[in-house]
Amino acid sequence: MMLANMIYQIVLDEILKQINLSGKTPKLLLHACCAPCSSYVLEYLSEFFEITIYYYNPNIHPENEYIRRLNELRKFLTEFKSKNKINLVEEIYNPLEYFNEVKGLENLGEKSKRCYKCYKLRMEKAVEYAKNNNFDYFTTTLSISPYKKSDWINEIGGMLENKYNIKYLYADFKKKNGYKRSLELSKEYGLYRQDYCGCIYSKQEREIIV
Ligand code: SF4
Repeated sequence: MMLANMIYQIVLDEILKQINLSGKTPKLLLHACCAPCSSYVLEYLSEFFEITIYYYNPNIHPENEYIRRLNELRKFLTEFKSKNKINLVEEIYNPLEYFNEVKGLENLGEKSKRCYKCYKLRMEKAVEYAKNNNFDYFTTTLSISPYKKSDWINEIGGMLENKYNIKYLYADFKKKNGYKRSLELSKEYGLYRQDYCGCIYSKQEREIIV
């Protein structure tokens, strides 16, 4: 699995190199879960792409936490300086979409099949948007988190790439000290960093540990 994640980085490096040589700026739809995870990914990719952030996270509980994370992202985008324009698309918050998706898997814990379904739900909605709006690539910030399985995220990305015929940007954003850099950027911009992944189950699981 380590090898697969190294290969994703090599593939990504090559794509970025080709984009640089082409002098073009492709359109990338970037699914994002929060401002801290977006910060490093935007710093890394925004010089290569015209990025639209796609905020679709029906997993987040409760609603005020959902709004807090979204507001933090909006604030970050007004302060972050980038070479290319960054847009934000906010989807409607409907937690039922998440609860229906993970029915029967609620108690499996983090990094389980519950999370696989949660990644897929969000990534598939993103690729549908990317397809309908003529993006060149799609990807997600999710792999930056040490608590998420990058191999699953990239497996889902590859599957959706084939299903929708739109390029998926393979990545493990933890690489190149991405997670560490996101911590630094969070500090620099004074970003709120949540202490649980997002769903009600991860919140309860975190409260049990603490
Ligand atoms: S722990 Fe995180 S990735 Fe897993 S189901 Fe909950 S919100 Fe989704």
